[in-house]
Amino acid sequence: MGNNSQPFRYLVAGPCAAESESQVYATAQRLHELAPTLPYPVAFFRAGVWKPRSNGADFCGAGEQALDWLRDIQREFGFTPCVEVATTQHVEACLAHGVTVFWIGARTSVNPFSIQAIADAVRGAGATILVKNPAIPDLKLWLGNVERFERAGAAGIIAVHRGFATAQEPQLRNAPLWEIANAFKVARPDLPLLCDPSHIAGDTQYIKQIAQTAINYGCNGLMVEVHCDPAHALSDASQQLTPDAFADLIRSLNYMATGDAPEDLLRRERNLIHNIDSQISQLLAQRMSVVDEIARIKREHHIPLLQPGQWNNVVSHYQEQALPDPEYAEFLHSFLELLHQHSLKRQQASPDPKTPKNQQP
Ligand code: PEP
Ligand code: MN
Repeated sequence: MGNNSQPFRYLVAGPCAAESESQVYATAQRLHELAPTLPYPVAFFRAGVWKPRSNGADFCGAGEQALDWLRDIQREFGFTPCVEVATTQHVEACLAHGVTVFWIGARTSVNPFSIQAIADAVRGAGATILVKNPAIPDLKLWLGNVERFERAGAAGIIAVHRGFATAQEPQLRNAPLWEIANAFKVARPDLPLLCDPSHIAGDTQYIKQIAQTAINYGCNGLMVEVHCDPAHALSDASQQLTPDAFADLIRSLNYMATGDAPEDLLRRERNLIHNIDSQISQLLAQRMSVVDEIARIKREHHIPLLQPGQWNNVVSHYQEQALPDPEYAEFLHSFLELLHQHSLKRQQASPDPKTPKNQQP
């Protein structure tokens, strides 16, 4: 992964949804003012015109009239609009308004019939398609969707990693499952892969860390939700950044060096180490909470804390995957010893379920 074939170059910014002419205008105007302060240009101004809401009673987008607003901001500020299309009617309406950059949302991406219909509708239109990953973690489906647009002769294809809907993700709106984004990059190093940290995060507080992780893995751009007044947004209010916060974010990220100077090579590798360390630290914390649950079960059922057979299974599981290097084996042995001791200590210290809560330490 350290050998990134394409540099970072795309910024896609704009509101989750085009809500009103004044909202689209104010957002684009401020982005335009801030553009000279950014290290990369805003390639596309994104705005949902038809929104795939979980509940149809919620705001579902301003519809076709918003395509006129987008055309106006393109004229005034030079931003190329990018709109989500989920049906052939959406494609036709966009093409009739001169919009030729589309994104395929994560819900549409799960349905090969919809993808094929959209691919047939864009055939010959010279369209650029941003293909988001399907909401379900299915790499083959994501790759297959891309190929449908290639066979339809799309002028440009850009993949977008927006995270996956899994029950396991405790904190974020969608689980990043970086291994799937990385596998996409390995399978299609010829295509740009962007990250949409807004939909992975679901909350502005996590956007920066996700964007930085994506950059460290070598992503080629970011699609970020930007709204002139996020607090009053009609969809995805908690994850939208103001144009100024977006500009701060883009300026504060640490981009991968593209050169071959030793400091560039080191910076790339250090960024990758940083990602791996974050994963190790999250996994260790998760492991500890499982240990606590095991302790609770053992106490409740009067099972002894120490079960040597079980620990040997853990050790051999690690050893099976170990590097064939005696020094590494020694390190692993010491590390596992420490891990085991700490787990036992936690289990000793865990509260006795029979002790009333107010008497627990
Ligand atoms: C969006 O970008 O606003 C959107 C609906 O995206 P996704 O399909 O990734 O949820
Ligand atoms: Mn959104």
